[in-house]
Amino acid sequence: MSIDRESCIRHLQGMVRFPTVSSPDPDAMNFEPFHALHQYLEQSYPLVHKTMTREIIGYAGLLYHWKGTGRSKQLPLLLMAHQDVVPEGDHTLWKYPPFSGEVAEGKLWGRGTTDSKNNIMAHMEALEDLIASGFCPDYDLYLAYGYNEEIMGGKGPAAKLIADTLQQRGVRLGCVIDECGGCGSGASQKIDGDICEIIVAEKGYADYLLSYTHKGGHSSVPPKEGAFYQMAKAITAIEEHQMPYRITDAVKAKLETLAPHRKDALGKLLCDVSGNWPQLLEEFENNPALAAMFHTTTAITMAQGSAQANILPEKVTVTINTRPLEGDSLEDIRQHFLSLVPEGVEVTLVKGNEATPVSPTDSWGYRLLQSISEEMYPGIIATPGYLLGGTDSRYYCNICENIYRFGSFYHNSDYGPAHSANECMPVDQITSGPLFFQKFLTRYGG
Ligand SMILES: [Zn+2]
Repeated sequence: MSIDRESCIRHLQGMVRFPTVSSPDPDAMNFEPFHALHQYLEQSYPLVHKTMTREIIGYAGLLYHWKGTGRSKQLPLLLMAHQDVVPEGDHTLWKYPPFSGEVAEGKLWGRGTTDSKNNIMAHMEALEDLIASGFCPDYDLYLAYGYNEEIMGGKGPAAKLIADTLQQRGVRLGCVIDECGGCGSGASQKIDGDICEIIVAEKGYADYLLSYTHKGGHSSVPPKEGAFYQMAKAITAIEEHQMPYRITDAVKAKLETLAPHRKDALGKLLCDVSGNWPQLLEEFENNPALAAMFHTTTAITMAQGSAQANILPEKVTVTINTRPLEGDSLEDIRQHFLSLVPEGVEVTLVKGNEATPVSPTDSWGYRLLQSISEEMYPGIIATPGYLLGGTDSRYYCNICENIYRFGSFYHNSDYGPAHSANECMPVDQITSGPLFFQKFLTRYGG
């Protein structure tokens, strides 16, 4: 078992050069770079492509399968990532062109180097080398790469298509590993030392539309109470009556595990979340990032009235973006809004998905993620994590109970952040992901 650093660099550079940008407008999606990426993977990882079957799902989804010997008792393992990237933005903000894959200053630069072509590279490098050395899994292995994670699936989430395909075939998975979380310096979370965060659940996502209809007419003769007056009452009530704060097991476990290692004053409070609940409620006022972990957030983000300044609106609408916490269903949230808005204001769910179930921390997959992390980074603090955003892995809930969001690369402040200009990966960490997966793949069978 070995990982060749030059090969990791060369292949991630190659992948970054395909501008696989996803767009919410299906007509604006260009699938050429995706198909070129598929060919590139085939050429770069010949043993993977000789050994595993590969199917194209939807427009450009990739599903690989390796039928194992069946000797293991473990249900199949699925490793996932997404091929698409967010737009590169203003080129002048980049030190090196966003799709060049330049290596400079000890880093590999470009869109997708951390989110999440690096994960595709990690899976493929690990497997190519394992196959060369004669490895054959005693369990079934799948790799799944969607093409529209960054646009929340657009009009047809590729990850859902892949998960549905597996479900129709009667496949049940023993473990799914997706992006986010992982091992790295705890500094960004104000923790002394390294932490290993295995994310066990994620919040949901839902947009609601409030609408109110009125007579309209000429703005020179406005009514006593116009349409926006009613809508203002509605949004004021919603802002003033947030969804209640609650303690969930997953969030409590994460915060209490890390609290003793925190360098700031919050550490003392978070050591006992239930015991210090009144003080924490006060803290939430000034700490939205902490508050978001304890309730369904509601953000009023868009408003619309008439088409022109001198027309009274016949209809006004307001959009509310929510991030449901485990335990609040999308219908619960709609009912909450309905109970607050004045008569005549309608509340409809535009689109959304429920918060995911919480994956267990005593499963085989979780224990393996933790033990390999502790072996690779002695002294690391392992904790279950909770994600405020979302990943493609949520679509696998029907066929897997053990879904973990765990980026395999060691993370520190040398990275250029995902979604921003100058996204980059430090070259001295580039083998950490493939090495992690080699250990995981060879041990998963038990
Ligand atoms: Zn991503």
